[in-house]
Parts: sequence; structure tokens; C-alpha cells
Amino acid sequence: MATYAAPGRPGSVVSFWPRYDHFIGGEYVPPARGGYFENPTPITGETFTEIARGTAEDVDYAVHAAEGAAAAWGHRPPAERALLLNRIADRIEQNLEALAVAETWENGKPVRESLAADIPLAADHFRYFAGAIRAQEGMISQLDADTVAYHFHEPLGVVGQIIPWNFPILMAAWKLAPALAAGNTVVLKPAEQTPASIHVLIGLVADLLPPGVVNVVNGFGVEAGAPLARHDRVRKVAFTGETTTGRLIMQYASENIVPVTLELGGKSPNVFFADVAAARDAFYDKAQEGFAMFALNQGEVCTCPSRALIQSSIYNDFLDDGIARVEGIVQGHPLDTRTMIGAQASNDQLEKILSYIDIGRKEGAKILTGGERADLGGELSGGYYIRPTVFEGHNKMRIFQEEIFGPVVSVTRFDDYADAIKIANDTLYGLGAAVWSRDLNTAHRAGQEIQAGRVWTNCYHVYPAHAAFGGYKQSGMGRENHKMMLDHYQQTKNLLVSYSEHAQ
Ligand code: NAD
Repeated sequence: MATYAAPGRPGSVVSFWPRYDHFIGGEYVPPARGGYFENPTPITGETFTEIARGTAEDVDYAVHAAEGAAAAWGHRPPAERALLLNRIADRIEQNLEALAVAETWENGKPVRESLAADIPLAADHFRYFAGAIRAQEGMISQLDADTVAYHFHEPLGVVGQIIPWNFPILMAAWKLAPALAAGNTVVLKPAEQTPASIHVLIGLVADLLPPGVVNVVNGFGVEAGAPLARHDRVRKVAFTGETTTGRLIMQYASENIVPVTLELGGKSPNVFFADVAAARDAFYDKAQEGFAMFALNQGEVCTCPSRALIQSSIYNDFLDDGIARVEGIVQGHPLDTRTMIGAQASNDQLEKILSYIDIGRKEGAKILTGGERADLGGELSGGYYIRPTVFEGHNKMRIFQEEIFGPVVSVTRFDDYADAIKIANDTLYGLGAAVWSRDLNTAHRAGQEIQAGRVWTNCYHVYPAHAAFGGYKQSGMGRENHKMMLDHYQQTKNLLVSYSEHAQ
């Protein structure tokens, strides 16, 4: 067990610059209109750096730089692009602790998670797409003895990418790795809450990147995100964030008829069938852990298992054990490796979660544990901490239907299989879900019938690069991860060739 020194204090493995400009054309560029905004750490609530406030002029400059680099990068052999991705992965791995501490300081998540999950998964993403692009092949259709249709993959050109604050470096990796592998150049807009960790990453790899291939414009959604999504020389928009914002992104992209991929919100059901409790064994323990996973990353996960559905016959005992487990989650300084739940990413997010706790109370839901802000004392008093919260209620309540994006689970019971599927699917969303059962027929059937892009079976919160990820219903469109992702970043060129000298 260890406690990392905070950035800026003696012994820290990372330091932030006092101010971050945009990164455009391989250089740091001040904002065209000269504005900066403050960036606080959610751990203490204190500002630690300031960030260039991007506007349409900065976006235009970045798109220009990306366009200038597009032809050369797009024509590089896949093996060379793969080499760059592998070198980026090397740098991430060599700087694991620095990146983990940077991300924890800016986002508030426990360092044990950024060390064990966020940063290693980001590195692996670059490695996976380095391999995927080298293995990609075109297709040929033989139309008749003299006629052949060749299908080639081409990059799209400049892609605009807009990411959220909950996994800053991993979300950047999810977007950058396939786009670069496919030969595109990128203008990335980080979330305004977490731009500095992206710049720590960029600083570590800037010397590897040909100028203009990756550009970062900081700023707020309306001021910098919207001009990027509606820019007439951007050939694709990739977005991760709220469903309401996703709707706007589609409208912006429609102005130029460019494709979009949207990774949006969720209200994921976590379904526990009665046979889970047939024995108090390792599997039962695993299922209990799966129940408590709603608090992972402070619940700020698009696939947060925020609705737990427990079969009536085991309901009381399973829930009692679950609450005991939730009460054992260690809350503390996010830079302490013993800490399991840290700070919410921003004061706005803290307020939003507290208001939903209030809504749940007023709707008549029962709080079984938590339900309040946590004051951890000392310098953490100014930080944004919430106790993991378990509500009991029914699926029509707002706390079962609306995304809270905090360490809050809403629990209800079901009688039989049909009831479970009905409740699980009674939602606008369809991103994640889980089913827990010792009977693989039940688990498999439920996995097929739940309308979600990812249904974990007897596990939760596993994110390998080679498993497709994305939403049904209002959780989005398109997929991320998996080599199929390359299709979202490429154009298909067909050459239809006649080898005959005779008339058709
Ligand atoms: P958000 O939509 O508020 O912001 C996301 C990004 O969009 C930010 O960079 C923001 O600046 C930008 N933005 C906001 N308004 C914009 C506009 N009008 N035009 C262009 N850009 C705009 O979401 P958030 O609060 O940062 O993130 C939380 C949400 O993200 C949750 O709903 C969560 O479920 C979702 N999420 C989804 C996934 C997934 O893969 N499906 C992953 C992580 C988070």
C-alpha cells in the first residue's frame, strides 16, 4: 500500500504546467481570443492549472493543420502507422505512474484503478489497433471471367473527436487509436473538466507524432465542440457523452452529411437470478462483487450497473449481503492505493447526484445505505465525495429511469424470468447489462433477450479492446473497440475493372 504525492508536491511522479494552450500542428498555440479557464482538482476543489478556452477560430486552425497532414499520414504504409501506435503504447507503459497520478488528480478516481485499469487499457488499445490495421485486407469480387470489383479501404481525412471526463485518457485512446490506424488525422476536444491529463499524454508522445496528425483544442461544448462537429472540412464526428448532447452532434454533422458515431448514456440492468444464492461460494462472492460495481469509478461509468434486479426468493438475503459489501468500500484520498472510491469529477456532478438522491427520497424510494455527501476531513473537505448509495424502489421511478452518473444503485425485485426481462428492457437506454446465473441456458437466453449492446454474463465492467462496445436505443450508434471499429473510420473505394477488349 502506498500514497502517491500530489502533483506539485515533493516526491510527485508528475507535474502539471501552470497553463495549457491548444496543441495544433505539433506546437502549443495560445487561444485566438486569449481566454483561459480554471481547472480544479475534485480531490480538494482547488485550481491547479488553467486551460485555453477554445473557440471556432482555434478549431478552424486545428482542422487546417490536420488537413495539411492528412495526405502524407493516410499514404503511410499500415506497418508504419502500426509502428507509431506501438511506440505510443510503449510511452504510456513507461510512464504508467505519471499518467495514473495525473488522471487521478484531475478526475478524482482512485489511483489503484488508474494504475490497474485506465492506463494499461489505454496502452493496450494502441497495441490492438496496431495489430488490427496490419491484418486488415481488402476484398475482391470476380463478376465474370473478365470483370473484377476491387474494394480498398481509404482513410476519411480529418476526423473530429469529442470526449467526456470520466475516463479521460482511456476515452482518448478509444478514439485516437482506430482513427490513426486507419490513416486519418484528428482534432480532439477533451472535456472541459479533464483536459490536463490529455495534455500530459500528448506531452509524452508529441515527439513521435508527425505535426498535424493529432491536434487538441480545449474548451467548452458550445464554444469549441459545436464548431468542430459542424466544421465543413471534418469528414467524420466521433462523440462520447450525454444522450442530449449526442442528439445535437447528429444535427451538426447532418449539416455536412458526415458520419457520426455516438457513445451515449445508459441505465444498465444488473440481473441476479435466484440460483446465484444456491451456495455461499466463490461464485456467490463474485456476484456480490458484481452488485457493488455500481460504485466503481464513483458510478461515473456509462455502463454503471445502476439498476439491480434481484429475484424475489433471494431478495432479502442477497441485498443484506450486498449492502454489507457496499459499506465495506473504502472511501478516502484518491492517491492512496487502499482507496476504492474517490471524488466525483466536478462540483456540478456532485450537485447533480445529490439532487437525484433528493428526487429518490421524494419519490418514496427507501435509502438502505449512503444517501449523503461524505466529508473526509482535512484538505479533502473541499472535495466532491459522496457515500455509495443503495435505493430500494420500483422501475417507474425517475431514479430507475434517468442516468444519475454517480455511486447510486436503484434496486428492485422480480418474480420470474419473463418479469426480469420486462423490467430490464423497460428503459430508453441500451448500453450495458449483466445477467448472473449458474444455469448457462438462463444466462444465455437472457443475454440474447436484453436489448443492450453489451451484456456481461457472470461478470461486469470488463473492457477488452477486442470486444465490440456500443449502444442500442438511445445509448448511441456505431461501435467502439474491436477491429470492426475500423469501418467507422474508413471509406470504401471500389474499382470496377473490365479486362476485356470487347464491348459490354
Ligand atoms: P457531455 O455530453 O456533457 O459532454 C461530453 C463532451 O461533449 C465534452 O467534451 C463537452 O464539452 C462536449 N459538448 C457538450 N455540449 C456540446 C455541444 N453542444 N456541442 C459539441 N460538444 C459538446 O457529457 P459528460 O457529462 O462529459 O459525460 C457524461 C456522459 O457521457 C454520460 O451520459 C455517460 O453515460 C456518457 N458516456 C458514454 C460512454 C459510452 O461509451 N457510451 C462512455 C463514457 C461516458
